Amino acid sequence: MIAEIIAAGSEMLTPFRQDTNSLYLTERLNELGVSVAFKTIVGDNIEHLTSAAKIAISRADVVIFSGGLGPTEDDLTREAVGAALGLGLRRDTEILTRMYKRFASRRMAMPQNNAKQADVLDGAEVLENANGSAPGQYIDTVVGRHRKIVILLPGPPKELKPMYEAECRPRLAATLPERHMAKRILRMALIPESQVDARTAPIYKLYTDVETTILAGSGEIQLHFVCAKASASEAQSRVDELAGKIEAEMGEAIFSSHGESLEEVVLLMLGLRHMTLAAAESCTGGLLAERLTAVPGSSRYFLGGAVVYADQLKTTFAEVPEELIRTEGPVSEAVARAMAEGIRRRTGAAVGVGITGIAGPGGGASGPDVEKPIGLVYVAISFAAEGTAKVTELNLTGDRERIRLWASQNALELLRRSLLERA
Ligand code: ATP
Ligand code: MG
Repeated sequence: MIAEIIAAGSEMLTPFRQDTNSLYLTERLNELGVSVAFKTIVGDNIEHLTSAAKIAISRADVVIFSGGLGPTEDDLTREAVGAALGLGLRRDTEILTRMYKRFASRRMAMPQNNAKQADVLDGAEVLENANGSAPGQYIDTVVGRHRKIVILLPGPPKELKPMYEAECRPRLAATLPERHMAKRILRMALIPESQVDARTAPIYKLYTDVETTILAGSGEIQLHFVCAKASASEAQSRVDELAGKIEAEMGEAIFSSHGESLEEVVLLMLGLRHMTLAAAESCTGGLLAERLTAVPGSSRYFLGGAVVYADQLKTTFAEVPEELIRTEGPVSEAVARAMAEGIRRRTGAAVGVGITGIAGPGGGASGPDVEKPIGLVYVAISFAAEGTAKVTELNLTGDRERIRLWASQNALELLRRSLLERA
């Protein structure tokens, strides 16, 4: 069973509007065990729409259209589907009456072109629109020797979603064989995608009944496993078995095996160890604190910290000796270490983090830092009751935004790794 989603609307072929309906519909279809094989975006042009409709109906079992059901000249989905399936349109008097009443209740005369919203394709079931005027249509037909389900839904998400829920899902669920989906998400930080794939592909390729997707970005790799089976427990045991084997292969590189974020995991680990955390941030400007505090309940383990951007504040809020900044430069191993230890002492936290670096693109650096490259970042982690803080030097690439994000990502991953060692 495969599906195609067709989003009709010229605006989605511009850089200004995106087709989000297909994201929603893909998730809903997957829940029913139907995978989306194609997504098409077509402008408001009858020839293009008709050809897209023909292609979709020839290659997919379920075709869902979104948009183009309105009253205007450029709303052409009904006509295109009619042409593709060789179906006529008849004006439905019941819908028409309802539309007249709708306008009358607002003391308005219905514009004549609205009447075309009452055009129904031969053999289609009308799907009521509880949130707008254009009804949807549901066609369950046979083309050649193949059963095809073709659905027309309105474009506005506020109309499409409730209509799918109320009118389409029950119909599809009754038609399709019973399927249950199970899903697992494994997440890893700061590993190249190619390495993850090289190590995991030999394993996941053996699970042909599990759909594996690798998502990479923002210093993170996610492995998504999805499986559809007749029973929920069967589907779950397949994804769990595969996830277990991948976990055994990737070991501690996996920070989360049920989709939790890196910051959630770090906070959880702090909680298990009854430890609190504080951060002194320079080049990340509070990004680490922002990410941690975005997690509900983080206040129990993240005390806070300081954005110590100017040299003087590194001294005032993180007790970094002025002399050290002068001799080593603010972007240095020694200053990062002093920041982590200083903020830990100042706040009474069990763990202190210090981040200092050059995010670029401009300089602004002086003294010993003048020669240092953009992307050079030091992350220090200091544990109470242990010796001096451990410092990691990073050489990050990319623009300012990327360097800042990766610095925070590295800090979280280094925290996680050092907490693991202190199990
Ligand atoms: P209407 O009766 O409002 O004209 P319609 O079914 O003709 O409904 P469109 O005219 O294609 O739908 O789109 C109406 C609005 O719905 C668009 O301006 C856009 O904001 C939103 N929309 C349409 N298609 C999509 C889509 N695929 N994803 C997200 N939003 C969409
Ligand atoms: Mg429209």
